[in-house]
Amino acid sequence: MSSKIIDGKAISSQIKSEIKTETEVLISETGIIPGLAFILVGENPASKVYVKNKGKSCEELGFYSVTETLPEDVTEAELLRLIHNFNKDGKIHGILVQLPLPSHISEQIILEAIDVKRDVDGFHPLNVGRMVIGEKCFIPCTPFGIIELLRRSNVDTQGKNVVIIGRSNIVGKPVANLLIQKEFNATVTVCHSKTKDIKSITSNADILIAAIGKANFVKADFIKEGCVIIDVGINRIEDAESKTGYKLVGDVDYEDCFGKCGKITPVPGGVGPMTIAMLMRNTLDSAKGLIYGQ
Ligand code: NAP
Repeated sequence: MSSKIIDGKAISSQIKSEIKTETEVLISETGIIPGLAFILVGENPASKVYVKNKGKSCEELGFYSVTETLPEDVTEAELLRLIHNFNKDGKIHGILVQLPLPSHISEQIILEAIDVKRDVDGFHPLNVGRMVIGEKCFIPCTPFGIIELLRRSNVDTQGKNVVIIGRSNIVGKPVANLLIQKEFNATVTVCHSKTKDIKSITSNADILIAAIGKANFVKADFIKEGCVIIDVGINRIEDAESKTGYKLVGDVDYEDCFGKCGKITPVPGGVGPMTIAMLMRNTLDSAKGLIYGQ
């Protein structure tokens, strides 16, 4: 693969193989098997695929996993009861409630019910707060994956201008908070849908992170020559040549930007596979008691 391409598939495989080895050691030395509980509500096809893939990764790495599938009309109280049971289950080191939830259930109430020590998605306000002040915590998996991609591709962040497009709680905001920590020392600008003249901001970026959910939004005239592009977007667009009738593209027009940028993540095969790898990392760290103790 061209050295320009940041190969998330290869990097995530490397991380998973490290996790597998560490898991074998943990089990043989302590008998502790990392355990992850998935909670899936309703019939959202994308959510089902995500949970299935995460379960497959657990199997590959030697983790214990359990999936509870609840009907679309489950009450908030029933869902909370299930979470409380997993919170007390000694075999479970991580609990993941697949989002989005049906509209009659408050995501915030559900996420806050997860034991902070088992919050391997890193969405509990306590973990978010600890991340912001640079304390040990579970880092949300996609931002963690982005940081790890940069680290393992030797992308220097020290004093660099990082521009993030998108300010969601699961990608844009946590990535911005991580990259301003002293470890990374980046100068971060966050753009959103109300930002004026985005191009004038992005064209100053040494590292551009796009997380907006708009197919091929970033074009070559948005970027500076030699910049590093991390494309978080996953968008389905029609493709008559594909068997499924669609293909996946990012928020960045890959073909248009490839010649001008220094490095770029493809879609698929960039940030996507890293998200699952970092979920496994967080679960293993939880099982080892590395974040909050045993
Ligand atoms: P989100 O919650 O919908 O947030 C999108 C953000 O983009 C918002 O902050 C929005 O601004 C901003 N935005 C939308 N249109 C814009 C425009 N024209 N100009 C500037 N900013 C604009 O999205 P998300 O959950 O962060 O996800 C973003 C993308 O990443 C999606 O394609 C999603 O599928 C993908 N994703 C991938 C992974 C992975 O594992 N690879 C994980 C998570 C998400 P406002 O705040 O002003 O509305």
